[in-house]
Amino acid sequence: MCEAGQGSGLLTTFLEQNDAPCPVCGHSLRRLQSSECPDCGAALELRLGSKDFRLGTWIALLLTLAIPLEFTTLLVGAGVVRAVLDTHSHGDLGFLHSYIHGMWPLIVQWGLTVSLLIVAIRWRQRFWKRRRWVQRLWLWGAVVLMGATLVASFWWMGAR
Ligand SMILES: [Zn+2]
Repeated sequence: MCEAGQGSGLLTTFLEQNDAPCPVCGHSLRRLQSSECPDCGAALELRLGSKDFRLGTWIALLLTLAIPLEFTTLLVGAGVVRAVLDTHSHGDLGFLHSYIHGMWPLIVQWGLTVSLLIVAIRWRQRFWKRRRWVQRLWLWGAVVLMGATLVASFWWMGAR
């Protein structure tokens, strides 16, 4: 949705010709002369919407990235805490080195997921403009990429 105007002129002009309920209390706003609901006092504005504006695929894409991110953040975070504690109590950096050596695929996975999430949020309007099958293609691409890189990370860490 995007705002059509800040002033109440467009709103009152619209409501001279059309009826619309207050989005807060449902009171009929026909022939309203101000930009406030006479019943509940809610500040009102005129907005433009689109029936084609569907967020489902984009939200599914965000979840596809956010769920593995939460998981890897916990693992990488727990590893960092353990490595710092071990390094502190033993007084040498060997633990930190072995931690990075042992967990680098997950650290890479974490960085990749953060980057993709930032891209998905910053370039959301480019995504929303694409046709639905293109959006679904991106979604399934992300599902396959997240699954494959997670499996590869755990396979690599388990194989050592
Ligand atoms: Zn109201």
